[in-house]
Amino acid sequence: MTGVTLDRDQCLALDAADPLREFKDEFVLPEGVIYLVGNSLGAPPRRAAERLRQAVEDEWGRHLVGGWNHAGWYEQPLTAGDRIAPLIGAGPGQVVVGNTTSIAVFQAVAAALRLRPDRRVIVSDTRNFPTDHYMVQGLASLLGGYELRDLADRRFDDAAVVLLSEVDYRTGARQDVRAVTAEAHAAGALIVWDVCHSVGAMEVDVSEADFAVGCTYKYLNAGPGAPAFLYVNPRHQAAAENVLSGWYGHAEPFAFETGYRPAEGVRRFAVSTPHVLSFAGLEAALDVWERVPMAQVRAKSMALGELFVELVGDRLELASPADPAARGSQVSLRHSDGYPVMRALIDRGVHGDFRAPDVLRFGFAPLYIGYTDVYDAATTLLEVLDKELWRDDRYATRLAVT
Ligand SMILES: *Cc1c(COP(=O)(O)O)cnc(C)c1O
Repeated sequence: MTGVTLDRDQCLALDAADPLREFKDEFVLPEGVIYLVGNSLGAPPRRAAERLRQAVEDEWGRHLVGGWNHAGWYEQPLTAGDRIAPLIGAGPGQVVVGNTTSIAVFQAVAAALRLRPDRRVIVSDTRNFPTDHYMVQGLASLLGGYELRDLADRRFDDAAVVLLSEVDYRTGARQDVRAVTAEAHAAGALIVWDVCHSVGAMEVDVSEADFAVGCTYKYLNAGPGAPAFLYVNPRHQAAAENVLSGWYGHAEPFAFETGYRPAEGVRRFAVSTPHVLSFAGLEAALDVWERVPMAQVRAKSMALGELFVELVGDRLELASPADPAARGSQVSLRHSDGYPVMRALIDRGVHGDFRAPDVLRFGFAPLYIGYTDVYDAATTLLEVLDKELWRDDRYATRLAVT
């Protein structure tokens, strides 16, 4: 559709012919809301409420502590990991689920450093989502003797580990996982990929990487606070150490030994008691993902992004790459008064978000966002700008979460 902007009727026709249209009914969104924040917190799967009720009433309520055995709670970090694996190009026994992405970053980078004891440089992207970089700062200061180098320097030759995101949270710019992984390996460095902004938005393949981490509450729709995942390449599983040596990663947690002995395989990267109720939300989401053709998700995601960019035209500066293949599933625009612009937009039912200092983000989750939604969102944005609706005093003060 390059160069030819569609009208609303054409968008309705595209939605009617959309091979993913059945998935919209798998999610619940409030009436009148166009939700373009699935890159931050995905929409609830329709079955999530039922699955959570079942976890509370049947599993917890009936089995009580027996739920650890009878409802599979004990195995959740690994069973959920095996279900996430196909979404990131991994196989069974390679992914463990639990904790948060920040924790998983710490574990993965610490393990990588132990596997490269002769090197003292950590390459990290200062433009990455700050928590990744913060965790590495804390780890480096704890260990002492490490140099933190910015990815922009592009020097891997003496690096122990390279940490970066496949898709940039602010601009949506996408890295070439295969090429950068090969580049790091050729320089003798290990690589940790963060796929928070790509998993569930496109076909992800971290199978060449050494480690990968990601969250489940963005495009995967597992719910607020849902657990993160950690991939450990099988070639490292025998030697990699989990410095967060909690009892869940022990070879025999219920032997209650005084010394830590790591479990075999990826299980050793489990740390502590799984967040059972949060796993219920994740399971409801994965029930949907099992049926999703990811190539179609990517194709639709690029088409939605292109449509939005064309409709907005040159009215706002594009902060994302212009080439849809070089983007994740979001489009970012710049406006010096981005915050009140976004508040005015949300007041009119179009939900995006704002990232300081001047970025408006619009995420397109192809399972529940259609072409007509994009058309209406862009039209509303242009109206907010043309009529300067954002100048209202109500939109000036910042809320705690932007
Ligand atoms: C969303 C996101 C996180 C979230 O970290 P939490 O520990 O779950 O709060 C981390 N890193 C990146 C790159 C993200 O996009």
